[in-house]
Amino acid sequence: MNDFNIKSQTHILVVDDYLDNLTLLTMILNNLGYQVRQANSGKTALKAIEQMLPDLILLDIQMPGVDGYSCCQQLKTNPKTQDIPIIFLSASNNAADKLKGFEVGGEDYITKPFLLEEVVARVEKQLILKWQKNQLKQELKYRKKIEKKLLESQQILTQILNTCPDGIAVLKFIPSRPHKPAYFYCTFINSVMENLLKPNQKRLINPKILKNSLDIFDSSLFDYFSEVVKTGHPFEQDLYYENSEIKAWYSVKAIPHGQGILIIVRDITDRKQCELILHQTNDFLYQQATTDNLTQISNRRAFDVYLKQEWKRAKREELSIALIMIDIDYFKLYNDHYGHEAGDRCLYTVAQTIRQAVKRPSDFVARYGGEEFAVILPNTERIGAETVANSIQKAIHDLQLPHAQSPISSYITLSIGISIQIPTSEDFIILIQTADHALYEAKHQGRDRIQSWSELLE
Ligand SMILES: [Mg+2]
Repeated sequence: MNDFNIKSQTHILVVDDYLDNLTLLTMILNNLGYQVRQANSGKTALKAIEQMLPDLILLDIQMPGVDGYSCCQQLKTNPKTQDIPIIFLSASNNAADKLKGFEVGGEDYITKPFLLEEVVARVEKQLILKWQKNQLKQELKYRKKIEKKLLESQQILTQILNTCPDGIAVLKFIPSRPHKPAYFYCTFINSVMENLLKPNQKRLINPKILKNSLDIFDSSLFDYFSEVVKTGHPFEQDLYYENSEIKAWYSVKAIPHGQGILIIVRDITDRKQCELILHQTNDFLYQQATTDNLTQISNRRAFDVYLKQEWKRAKREELSIALIMIDIDYFKLYNDHYGHEAGDRCLYTVAQTIRQAVKRPSDFVARYGGEEFAVILPNTERIGAETVANSIQKAIHDLQLPHAQSPISSYITLSIGISIQIPTSEDFIILIQTADHALYEAKHQGRDRIQSWSELLE
């Protein structure tokens, strides 16, 4: 909008009981582009103002009836009109009169006879001041609105932060300086975090969070947090904390925030306890599912899983793997003679004896079925396998478990078949078949002996 347009929208009210002044001022201001209205008394001026508010008033002081001072007073006490700038026009150059003009609220004072240029300059100055005042008012109004919204947002945020289940804190990082170590400065902490830290950790709430305050929780925490500031990568870890009053698990998260970090801490003790119970239950169930109830050694299912796993490993590493199959000789006769309960006790004793005879942690003993047992020996060659088989056989011999019905001995004896393979295919059945075949041969040749599959091939 250009200057003329602004002026054409600016309304000036000229008030003077002297017609010549009224005419002259109207003409001058009209020529400059302003909208001008006239009033020849205080009374008509107030009426004109009531009908339409002007942007500025040129007001004569000495008028019959309502004079300029009282007209001004009335306008300045009315909220609707109090902001309209008033420039007094007066023939009096008396300082007291001028002072009164300002006291009743006038913005400026021009002495008659006036210089037209002076009137124009003072009018324009007042209009600019009014415009600037308006701008300031608008800005103030806008700022108040923003402040109100900000306050509302802050209240909502505070409510959320104080009612959410997580402890939240904002820490500013102060890097190390000569003779002064780096530290964190706490700029915000919510009530949940304060409660989490009670009663013994108040040091952490203190503004300066030094390394040893964080060390209470975890000796690496200060370094972890510093790394978050340096790298911008978030940190997340579950931490266990214990003192004389608290035993608790916390989930700790730290994310970069400005010159420091935002920390979110949650008490996860209940969840951790559930996990622990679940873990123990799983362990128990796994144990149940993979253990043979009668002999308390691994069952056939566990055997299959372990053999598959070790067979794969042996193939990958091109190593030999041995399988020992064991059968209790004439066990049916034992059962028939001593009864099933004694038979079960015998199976248990033999199973536990075999297990004790096998030494390496990677060696695996299982009940294969009935009175048959199997031993998996990873990374084992013929001599090693035969040594283990001999130890097993000797251990059973040493037990001297009576077997009155055995045609070959007075005691329990074992037939043992061994197979050693370096896997060439995924299928481990070849190992079971050859060990089984060796066992069959051991029985066939009179029982109470060890037969190796490779021996049969020689
Ligand atoms: Mg007059």
